[in-house]
This record gives sequence, C-alpha cells and structure tokens, in this order.
Amino acid sequence: MSTLALAFDLGGTELRGALVGRSGDVIARASEATMAGAGSEAVIGQIIGLAGKLLKEHPQAKVIGIGACAPGPLDPKAGIVIGPPTLSGWHNVPMIDILSRQFGLPVRLENDANAAALGEWRYGAGRGSESLVFVTVSTGIGGGVIADGHIYHGRRGLAAEIGHMTITGEGDRCFCGNVGCFEAVASGTALGRRATQLTAPGDGSQLRRLSRNGDVSARHVVEAARTGEAIARELLDAEARWLGIGFTNLLHLYSPEVIVMGGGLSNGFDLLEPGIRATIDERAMQAYRDVPIVPAKLGDRAGLVGAASLILWEGEPGTALSMVQDQGADTARTA
Ligand SMILES: [Zn+2]
Repeated sequence: MSTLALAFDLGGTELRGALVGRSGDVIARASEATMAGAGSEAVIGQIIGLAGKLLKEHPQAKVIGIGACAPGPLDPKAGIVIGPPTLSGWHNVPMIDILSRQFGLPVRLENDANAAALGEWRYGAGRGSESLVFVTVSTGIGGGVIADGHIYHGRRGLAAEIGHMTITGEGDRCFCGNVGCFEAVASGTALGRRATQLTAPGDGSQLRRLSRNGDVSARHVVEAARTGEAIARELLDAEARWLGIGFTNLLHLYSPEVIVMGGGLSNGFDLLEPGIRATIDERAMQAYRDVPIVPAKLGDRAGLVGAASLILWEGEPGTALSMVQDQGADTARTA
C-alpha cells in the first residue's frame, strides 16, 4: 500500500478521522461526536481511539505522519491549540507534542479554516493557483488565505479572521463583541435570523412551511428560493450583496487568482453568484473584477485532506519548491 497520512479534523460537534493518500484520496473515514465539554484530555483520548480504529481496519496502511486541524485560535508553528470557544477546558494544549509522543510519528497542526483552504487549493476548486482566498459561510464565516504559494499565517498563525472584518457600522452584535462583522451580517445564521424576523409562524410562506413554523434557517431560505418564493429570493439577493461586499474587500486585500466559497451556504451558490458578481462589478476596482468566484469542491472533507497534505504534499511536477511547505512545522518532523 502506498504511503498515507492519518488526518484528524477536530470540530466542536464532530471529530473526524481519515486515512488519506498522496492525491488527497480518502481511503477510510471514521467519526464520532466530540466530547466538547469534557476537556482536552478526554478529546485527545478520542483522537487516539479513532486512530486505533482506522489502523486496525487497515493493518497494511503505511502511515508516515499525522496531520490535524482544530478550531482557532491555534498556533500552528508551536503546535498549540490556544483555546477554541467551542471546546471547553482547552488552554494552550501542546497538541503536536502530545500526538507525536503517543504515535512516534511527525505531526503537523493547522487551524480548521486554513486546513480547508489548503485542501481546496491542493486538491479541490483552487488547484493550480498561486494565490487563493477560501471563505466558508455557514454558522459563522471563516477562511484561509494562500498568498504566493504559501498559507498566510501572520503573527501566531492568527491571520485571515475573515468573519471578523468590519463591513458595516450597524446591526446585531457579533459574538466577538463588535458590531458590523462580516460574520454577523452575512453568515448562514444571520440569513436565517433575517428570514425568521420577516416571516411569522402560520403565515403560509414556503419559508415557514419548510421550517415547520419554527425558526427559519439558511438552508430553508435556499430551498424556498428554489421554489420561486419572492421573499426568499429577496433574502438571498441581500445575502449575495453582503457576500459581494466582503469578497470585494478580500480581492483588494489579497489579490487572489480565485475566491473559493465553501460552507453550508455554498449549496445555494448558483442562486447567490449573480448578486455576488454584480456587487463586485459595482464596488471592486477595475483590475480585480475578472477574478473567478467558485464553489468549493471537497465538501466536508476539505479540512481532512488539507490537514493530511501537511504531511503528504510534495507538490505538482514542476511546482516551485517554495510551494511545497512553509517552515512552520518542519520542526515537528524532527521532534
Ligand atoms: Zn466579530
């Protein structure tokens, strides 16, 4: 069997593990509900258990390392999970140290949004580009930036908090404490909230029928818009405009070759795209307007294969060596 990486995508609700091959192919997958309230030791125990399960099912697997991703804030170079809001009891957990001691393998760590950006860049919708911005729009908004063939980390790996750039001066307060964050106005949560406010239980709207008269979610808005309901279409038009404003900022800041949109709301990408494009055409400077905005290709495995690529990726034939890896976790290889 060819060489593989063990990959983990640690989320606040689900822990996923996989064996991944060099071309980003997922050989085996396993997952379980994250014991998010139980502290870091319990969750690391889950990771070790999941690894054991995958390796037992594939005894011939030649695993050369472990690539893991977890929610930020996280320091990829030091290999430390600093303290994600979705996982209680995690404070400066030295994940690379713990896992490399446990398994005797090189371990690399990346935050989940950056890992998904790497996945889409190396194996998905952004293949072949040198610069890319990945934006995930679901409950919140996150993202990762590939700049000139490298993931852009910034100080302590904290760069590209795309969801918390300020894009308006008003609206609901973001969980981060600010008003007007991209995430607070353009996430799936914000879209669902607007839809809920504009409709009422029992009003006969498609939105409320789909939600069974409960709170309306972003998914319901997309579904109702597909049936042609006017209010759902208008909600998506407004959503597309917010996304277009945010994406215009990203174009001006990073000048990517492509913006890749993932997350739950990318299910409605075809409906959102015209409004996103129109907003970019209206707001972006001329030189940035021809950049493609495309939907992500890898779905929920982007993070896993991106994390695996931290171990496996050797670049495309002809790719500049600088593209292969950054310095960061080479320290982990020798650890
Ligand atoms: Zn915020």
